[in-house]
Amino acid sequence: MNNRSRNRLLGVNKLLAEKVAEIISILEARFNCQVEVVQGFRTFAEQNALYAQGRTKAGNVITKAKAGQSFHNFGLAVDLCKFVNGKPDWNDEEFWLNLRNLARNRGLISGYDWKFQDKPHVQLGNVLPKTKR
Ligand SMILES: [Zn+2]
Repeated sequence: MNNRSRNRLLGVNKLLAEKVAEIISILEARFNCQVEVVQGFRTFAEQNALYAQGRTKAGNVITKAKAGQSFHNFGLAVDLCKFVNGKPDWNDEEFWLNLRNLARNRGLISGYDWKFQDKPHVQLGNVLPKTKR
């Protein structure tokens, strides 16, 4: 695991971070590649900016979650990607399937299984923490 990933795991739930570190080392060995945490904790402001994308701002819709509706906002989710020669590879279906199975085997939830599929996404638990509004 590289330093960028290590830094992005700061602010992430400790149990999730431990499981993700284990998953990363298995995937790196299995696919002979680098696996990076591309997203960890996300602030409410960052979440709202993502939500605006494809709605009130240019780009494709990439999330259904507003601030407080994403597990990233609570350090309970990370997004992972395979890197080859320093470049992300978003199109290796075998990799996504392996990530999904490794996550599920550790009691984590994989965005791979969602109707609005989010293959890089792995999260701890299925109930969002309550927030004050
Ligand atoms: Zn995610």
